[in-house]
Amino acid sequence: MIKHDDTKHKNSEEELQIFQKACKKHGLKITPQRIAIYQELKSSKQHPSAITIYRKIRNYFPNISLGTVNSTLLTFAGIGLTKVVESSGDPKRFDPDLKPHHHFKCQKCGKIIDFYNNKYDAIDVPPAIRKRFVVLNKIVQLEGLCDRCR
Ligand SMILES: [Zn+2]
Ligand SMILES: [Zn+2]
Repeated sequence: MIKHDDTKHKNSEEELQIFQKACKKHGLKITPQRIAIYQELKSSKQHPSAITIYRKIRNYFPNISLGTVNSTLLTFAGIGLTKVVESSGDPKRFDPDLKPHHHFKCQKCGKIIDFYNNKYDAIDVPPAIRKRFVVLNKIVQLEGLCDRCR
């Protein structure tokens, strides 16, 4: 069921173009710091929090603050470059994979693992919900213990 999809990691040049396009479209200045934060996020498979990204970015930009990294990531989420992992608690975790997928979350170490499943993609929306709301996104989150913690 858990499939590691290598094709989802596009080459970084293509990713940079997506980044530049989104910034231009939304009038966001392209700075070396923002590029670094974006690249760090994209290369991470851990659904990183702002703190995780900040610890890495600090090596290249010693003067950057956690607040800047956090607000940059939220800006990226606002212009569709990343998604905030829902109900991931505090601190927020960010997801660079924009394709529909589902999550397994380890309750012990907090690791969030992506998986793809056609049946879950096609899961039925309960009629009571369908009547009242417009459903735009369906994500299944499984929780338990990962292979290291079990
Ligand atoms: Zn774990
Ligand atoms: Zn994910």
